[in-house]
Amino acid sequence: MKIRAQIAMVLNLDKCIGCHTCSVTCKNIWTNRKGVEYAWFNNVESKPGIGYPKQWENQDKWRGGWKLKNGELELKAGGRASKLLNIFANPDMPEIDDYYAPFDYDYAHLQNAPLSEATPTARPRSQIDGSRMEKIQWGPNWEDDLAGEFAERARDPNFADIEKQMYGQFENTFHMYLPRLCNHCLNPACVAACPAGSIYKREEDGVVLVDQDKCRGWRMCISGCPYKKVYYNWESGKSEKCILCYPRIESGLPTACAESCVGRIRYMGVILYDADRIGTAAATENPKGLYEAHQGVFCDPNDPEIIEQARRDGIPESWITAAQNSPVWKMAMEWKIAFPIHPEFRTLPMMWYVPPLSPVQSQLDQGNLPTGEDGVIPTADALRFPARYLANLLTAGDTAPIISALNRLIAMRSHQRSKRVEGSGNAAVL
Ligand code: SF4
Ligand code: SF4
Repeated sequence: MKIRAQIAMVLNLDKCIGCHTCSVTCKNIWTNRKGVEYAWFNNVESKPGIGYPKQWENQDKWRGGWKLKNGELELKAGGRASKLLNIFANPDMPEIDDYYAPFDYDYAHLQNAPLSEATPTARPRSQIDGSRMEKIQWGPNWEDDLAGEFAERARDPNFADIEKQMYGQFENTFHMYLPRLCNHCLNPACVAACPAGSIYKREEDGVVLVDQDKCRGWRMCISGCPYKKVYYNWESGKSEKCILCYPRIESGLPTACAESCVGRIRYMGVILYDADRIGTAAATENPKGLYEAHQGVFCDPNDPEIIEQARRDGIPESWITAAQNSPVWKMAMEWKIAFPIHPEFRTLPMMWYVPPLSPVQSQLDQGNLPTGEDGVIPTADALRFPARYLANLLTAGDTAPIISALNRLIAMRSHQRSKRVEGSGNAAVL
């Protein structure tokens, strides 16, 4: 056993309002420079949706992360040697168009909007040519920003019935925001992919960094990272990525995205893990077992034997205390309501997500979902949508842990709602 400490984050998707404050704060601090205009170390994308960069989840297209070969882990984008041969023709990278041009906005609407109770806003506009979907200018939030416009098209007699039907779906779809940053993985594919050895994971807190002096700009890290969270700076000729605001963390401050988050969705904390268990966990054969294997890497910070071992392994006392009080440990391990994003990429990501409750809660409130006698959702079938989608995002397709987490969240929501606000006699609205 070799205990290490890691800074990790839980993001509660139920509370994200898609305001992008986190992304803008991060951009102002870290990528407000020539060469990385297109780069968002933190971005917030609409889901279901194609994301940023386009189709980053499509591992057949970009070939990032790890695969199992004869029980051994191998980089999907090829081994180091083949990468060196391919250095000048690295095929597995998104191009600049995959990171989008900004939307166009209809500012005339501010002057021309009909009288209404709501203040008019400059509405986003797709650059649509005729009615062909392929010609739409996409953006990371296209799926919800343009849904209103498309709903209007669904009622427009100039469009064919089939098109109206398609446009009409946007208003009725399940939707959520997904804030994304580098996962500071325990088994980072970017580190393994770098032929120059310039990317490394810090021993003391697990932050993954690119050594700018060593980087040769070969961009194998961009191919290797299945989350596409490394960016090429065309001005400096080096790769760059989220540094988890390590200068702030070293001063005892949270990351800028966590501190500025309007929805207060981000919880930062320390977790202890056994470095010797990483390889076995990442090489778990059945992808559906990966979420559990992922959990098996962590060590209980309240176990006296673990505490002793952590001390022997040089973990400072303040970090052990932080791990004992960590919201990440509580939500991911004790309560099992937070999940790693796409564990099937086998990098053991350290950003954890609480699935959104709102779509489920609103269906329950409308009586559209059956509940058991104790008010608990009985089966995965009752929650086919969006439970399957969330399971594909967070547990490699295993719906059981997602249903269980949603049930816990529903129970807590119902408990809180049943409380009376002191003095008012009214139920608390949560
Ligand atoms: Fe590396 Fe971050 Fe990608 Fe993980 S998410 S592989 S640490 S760049
Ligand atoms: Fe979501 Fe918080 Fe970012 Fe706003 S600041 S988009 S609430 S994560």
